[in-house]
Amino acid sequence: STFSEIDLGDAVNENIRRCKYVKPTPVQRHAIPILLAGRDLMACAQTGSGKTAAFCFPIISWIMRGPPAERQRVSRTAYPSALILSPTRELSIQIHEETRKFSYQTGVRVVVAYGGAPINQQLRELERGVDILVATPGRLVDLLERARVSLQSIRYLALDEADRMLDMGFEPQIRRIVEQMDMPGRGQRQTMLFSATFPSEIQRLASDFLSNYIFLAV
Ligand code: AMP
Repeated sequence: STFSEIDLGDAVNENIRRCKYVKPTPVQRHAIPILLAGRDLMACAQTGSGKTAAFCFPIISWIMRGPPAERQRVSRTAYPSALILSPTRELSIQIHEETRKFSYQTGVRVVVAYGGAPINQQLRELERGVDILVATPGRLVDLLERARVSLQSIRYLALDEADRMLDMGFEPQIRRIVEQMDMPGRGQRQTMLFSATFPSEIQRLASDFLSNYIFLAV
């Protein structure tokens, strides 16, 4: 199978060609159609499996096709429509780079925010508007407390390397973040959880955050 058989839109398919991805990896082949169909997903995927593209292609493709009026409201508070949570600065940078490559010439704006680095540059990027926010949980809680990010417009939530986030003690932060998306009046959210392992804590997270989800192990 090839990427052109999957309806990601012309701009994303062009970026895939530009990056010389010829065929989808197994996790991409299975996860992308599930996500494009609007289903929640819990996927077992290791580093190197191509999991980043598996969740970032559908997110870019949806936002691109969504109503532009809803996007990139420029103000002191940023209103992303997609949030990708990742455990570390290194992984966040990697996801940001990959997501930017594939959103080239789509008008979709991606911003990254992680801890252990000065916040001012990140604040300036957020002020310019953001569709997809890639963030570590601790830094995002900080941004929420400063009211520099609002999660009221989030439609897509991806939790990457969820087992590592729990190992690092981020469960309270993750729960606080997701609670803000579950407040009354918030729209429907599609959630995807990627993890290399499935201990009971991850299964509990999945049953708390996902609805009617599909489980994928490749
Ligand atoms: P990941 O598992 O998301 O960290 O991806 C591992 C590496 O594989 C990254 O360097 C990606 O750019 C690359 N990659 C992801 N999907 C494909 C694909 N379909 N074809 C070729 N390389 C890919």
